[in-house]
Amino acid sequence: MNVILSTELVSRIEDRIQSILANESAGNSHIREVVRRTGALPLALDSGGGLSLAPNGDIIGFFWDHSEIDVEQDPRLVNMALLQGSLKYPELEEIVPPRPADAAECPHCKGTGYPTELEGSGIENIVCYCGGIGWIPPGDDGGKLSLRTAETPSGDIK
Ligand SMILES: [Zn+2]
Repeated sequence: MNVILSTELVSRIEDRIQSILANESAGNSHIREVVRRTGALPLALDSGGGLSLAPNGDIIGFFWDHSEIDVEQDPRLVNMALLQGSLKYPELEEIVPPRPADAAECPHCKGTGYPTELEGSGIENIVCYCGGIGWIPPGDDGGKLSLRTAETPSGDIK
């Protein structure tokens, strides 16, 4: 999926990419390697990999442990990448998609962006199924909270 970027935003993204590549601290080595490999700005990361924004507007999916990359096509994951990215890079707020009239409220967080079943748990570094945006794209079945994937047989999506 491709996001339309203004010329100004493209140059800001390129600046962010350059500053990550220029940061040679040891703690930055994984991110630096991924940025070099994808040519894109990391927006959302998890233990398996992440999603990045390329200066041409592609949302690039990558993995930490193998070199394959692809252009993410799932609008829910694109929402996640853009919203999470905007929390880190405020200039990206302008490309966070507005909620379409026919989008459903996220059943896992009731639109708040934080999973309702985790309220009061104290767990903070959790991103809801919706990516924290509070709604799910038209055509998305609402899926399941990723936290449950280990306990739920694959293919069981409700
Ligand atoms: Zn949600």
